Amino acid sequence: MEQKTYLSEVLLRAELADLIRYLYRKRLAEEIIADFEAVFARQPALETRLGIMAHWVDFFRAHKYRKMMRRRRPTHKERMTACAACGYPVSHRHHLWDIATHGENTMTVQVCANCHELYHLMYHALARDSKYSRKLVIHMLASGRVAPEVAGQVLDWCRATLRYEAGNGWLEPYKTSDEWLEVTLYWSRFGGGQGAG
Ligand SMILES: [Zn+2]
Ligand SMILES: [Zn+2]
Repeated sequence: MEQKTYLSEVLLRAELADLIRYLYRKRLAEEIIADFEAVFARQPALETRLGIMAHWVDFFRAHKYRKMMRRRRPTHKERMTACAACGYPVSHRHHLWDIATHGENTMTVQVCANCHELYHLMYHALARDSKYSRKLVIHMLASGRVAPEVAGQVLDWCRATLRYEAGNGWLEPYKTSDEWLEVTLYWSRFGGGQGAG
């Protein structure tokens, strides 16, 4: 029993230090950790020390979670990267795995503002069955201003995300089917079969 409590103190103290080092710059982190160590050194009752640690570990865990969920600002170099679908010279970072579920992550593509909008409209039409998005996508495709191979590339990314989400049970599997693509976006009329893979 004594052994177990000792172990929880060691583990909690280590987690507290890890969280602080994750959240703060090196020097500040070491100062904060030293302050905590000083507080613990003055506190002879193990139960009280454990209580204080548990409280602050909870606090910093919530802080870490919020930080992980925060969208990282794009770098200048990322913004200067050409659109991966149409070649336009500046782009946004689009997350193929959404931040709300995965936190900031590296599953991204660089797409220009127009291709980015097309992606999200396609996604909402196919995944959320949004009539509003569907109308806009059909309007864009019918305009003749979006090259079929560009729309096909954007659709490929969109469908890769849909399959990933369906594979995890977050989306009805029929939404990844060619039939669904056809009834939703009349794809064969515009894409000539591109991107339907
Ligand atoms: Zn583009
Ligand atoms: Zn996006």
